[in-house]
Amino acid sequence: MNAELITIGDELLIGQTVDTNGSWIGEQLNLLGIKVTQISSIRDDREHIISSLNVALNRSDLVILTGGLGPTNDDITKTTLCEFFESQLVLNKQVLQKIETYFKSRGLKMLKVNSDQAMLPNNCETLRNERGTACGMWFKKNGVDFISLPGVPYEMKGIFLEEILPKLKTQYLTSNVVNKTIKTQGIGESFLAEIIKDWETELVSSGLKLAYLPSPGIVKLRITGFGNNENELAKKIDGFINQLKRLIPNYIFGYEK
Ligand code: AMP
Ligand code: MG
Repeated sequence: MNAELITIGDELLIGQTVDTNGSWIGEQLNLLGIKVTQISSIRDDREHIISSLNVALNRSDLVILTGGLGPTNDDITKTTLCEFFESQLVLNKQVLQKIETYFKSRGLKMLKVNSDQAMLPNNCETLRNERGTACGMWFKKNGVDFISLPGVPYEMKGIFLEEILPKLKTQYLTSNVVNKTIKTQGIGESFLAEIIKDWETELVSSGLKLAYLPSPGIVKLRITGFGNNENELAKKIDGFINQLKRLIPNYIFGYEK
């Protein structure tokens, strides 16, 4: 079960906005035991979106996109998805009514670009957005799930938590993920790697993953395990941590999840 995330928006590419959507969704999927294999940020550009979708179609089981669903001309994700999934846009009356109510309650005049947000692809599941006017969309192609969400972080999180998370939990037989991190200081990452070489080889061949996370003066070692039994995984990781304590007793100064 591989997931990948595609965050869409020119602002992400020019340093104007940091891609917090990618990291937030990555964390959520990791907690579910769904492996995220790539997060890419791309421009609001038809060709880039289509080629990213094609690549994702051939290597991932779940693809989550954010951004480009706003009412203005620069937001082209919806029309590009229609092209990719061969969809027709049809009026969703329920969504239109919600948008009308939204504008009325704020005393605002509704423009055509606003009502156009109720025009939705005929071959996706519409995901309700309780915080804005752009709905999420869930498509399926060749067995791959594609979910498109608005870029605005609180709208995206709302749809994810309310509409997507419960379905992912039941739809995918997710495995558990256990992370444990050992904090070391006083030794550089390459020297550390040299000392724990054999331990690392054994850890990796047992199916666990090891990541070195260096920052000034500190190297964190994160061990990750995926599996069905959370307790067993935790025990297995603890076994490796105990071996590590014997290997580098003077460099470890703490632990975190
Ligand atoms: P959009 O859905 O493309 O109209 O995005 C609306 C707003 O959401 C943008 O102006 C950004 O401020 C914000 N946004 C879009 N994508 C991201 C992202 N990946 N991470 C954080 N904020 C984002
Ligand atoms: Mg945008």
